[in-house]
Amino acid sequence: MSRLVIVTGGSRGLGLAITRSLLEAGYSVSTCSRSLGDTLPGLLEVHPDRLFWQQADIGNAASTQAFIDATVQRFGAPWGLINNAGIAREGILATLPLVEVDHLIQTNLTGAIQVARGVLRHMLSRPGGGRIINISSIIGQRGYTGLAAYAATKAGLDGLTRALAREVGRRQITVNSVAPGYLDTEMSGTLSAGQRDQIVRRTPLGRLGTAADVAPAILFLLGNGGAYITGQTLTIDGGITC
Ligand code: NAP
Repeated sequence: MSRLVIVTGGSRGLGLAITRSLLEAGYSVSTCSRSLGDTLPGLLEVHPDRLFWQQADIGNAASTQAFIDATVQRFGAPWGLINNAGIAREGILATLPLVEVDHLIQTNLTGAIQVARGVLRHMLSRPGGGRIINISSIIGQRGYTGLAAYAATKAGLDGLTRALAREVGRRQITVNSVAPGYLDTEMSGTLSAGQRDQIVRRTPLGRLGTAADVAPAILFLLGNGGAYITGQTLTIDGGITC
């Protein structure tokens, strides 16, 4: 049977690209999002045995647990987790409503920790180790005006990666972050033309990234090549932070 990887937020953007590339590589994939989106129904028809989706809000503990339980019931314990689902809210911190700050933290940080915790309980019961990959961001390393709370959640994820790598290493479970730069997805749709031009000018490779630029690194970390890499943050940003 093919190895199972859980991908949160697989309905569009980076999570969808990762889901597609994992299916192409022969993995089974269980994914969740708050809505199904336009593309997953077609993929579910093509891969009825290897792809599973359930509606879940990772900011809600009960919803997250129900998704993990349904996944394990369907496929057994997972080999990998890609903690990808996330939201961005732009706004100067001094005026950003506290409810927005709470929502960001609840989704991007508490949510990701809850998913990792729930999945680990099954991963630890499965002999042979596993892989956890947290999708953080260069914003958590370098910051960006208007994204202070978002940056805090992503820096928090990198901290989670380092501590958890120590905690579960003896069980041959690796934990890493992948930190993309600016990707051309729905999430970056709020960037103005001026901001985009500035990012492109400052990026040595001269363009925004795409989800397809990131997915191969995920496959590498999930495979044999990732066996002795843990506690690291792999930055994929066209060189903008170099
Ligand atoms: P996106 O296009 O907005 O997709 C986000 C995905 O997460 C969707 O499938 C969305 O589905 C799901 N999601 C959001 N909130 C959720 C929740 N509470 N529960 C379950 N699923 C949820 O974003 P993206 O650009 O692909 O970003 C993916 C990850 O990469 C995020 O963690 C983001 O912070 C990170 N990242 C993005 C960029 C960038 O420039 N785009 C750069 C660096 C890092 P629903 O809305 O239906 O729930």
